Amino acid sequence: MDIEYVNCNLCGKDDTTFVTKTVQDGQEFKLVKCASCDLIYLNPRLTWDTIKGIYSENKLDNFQYYLNTKDLDEQTFTERLNLIRQYTTPGKVLDIGSSIGIFLHAAHKQGWQIFGMELNKEEAKYSEENFGVKLVSSYGTKPKFDLINMSDVIEHFTHPKEELQKISKALKQNGLLLISTPDFDNKLTRKVAIKPHEHLYYFDKTTLTKLLEDTGFKVLYIESTTRKLSLKTLRYSSSFNTSKVKKFILDIIVYTKTYKIFDFFVNKTNPDLLVIAQKIL
Ligand SMILES: [Zn+2]
Repeated sequence: MDIEYVNCNLCGKDDTTFVTKTVQDGQEFKLVKCASCDLIYLNPRLTWDTIKGIYSENKLDNFQYYLNTKDLDEQTFTERLNLIRQYTTPGKVLDIGSSIGIFLHAAHKQGWQIFGMELNKEEAKYSEENFGVKLVSSYGTKPKFDLINMSDVIEHFTHPKEELQKISKALKQNGLLLISTPDFDNKLTRKVAIKPHEHLYYFDKTTLTKLLEDTGFKVLYIESTTRKLSLKTLRYSSSFNTSKVKKFILDIIVYTKTYKIFDFFVNKTNPDLLVIAQKIL
């Protein structure tokens, strides 16, 4: 596993304080906070080539998980699209990391023309065949889209600032960006969202706003939110279902239907941030 040291992606400096550490597969990882702009990030971290390898090993598990959370995800995304309608009317939407296409399926029902970008070939194919998603392999450089969505994507980027600059070019003037990401101000997130093999950045309202403003966006909406989930479907999650014991406990919870109690509380925890930002440059 190759590692690399990086400077702060937001302000470019290399002056940090220690936040916390975690161990995955016997390897210790540290989260640090930039002394200059407060951005929290993993440093050192795995190189992109190593991370890509891990993604391709996990892909089958994720596909199963997304199929099982389809209905809950559609509810979550429909609510987010309803919120978007307060700011714009349906046009062309691109979903970055479109997975099996549930966000775009919900958008299509509301009159959007749907475009998706997904590295996982199996998931991309599913979205094309089942929901008519038009797949693209790059953002493009022409301002084409009225809305770009990134659900739980930005924390995975190796260079979020540079990525947002590219994404901005694909948006029409006054186009909107819809982002969800773990909220590192949330206590639950601090416990469960530290995933050093996947999440390289840990945003809160302040640092995410700063990142968006630095890349030519104006934040119109930023609130805590929950991507609806259920213990019933966590059985299929590769990050949760890590041992036979956990799987067994989850099986009992599902069999006895006690997951309904857990779900009620879990869906009130608001572990994520939901942001709507408008391109102003
Ligand atoms: Zn910084």
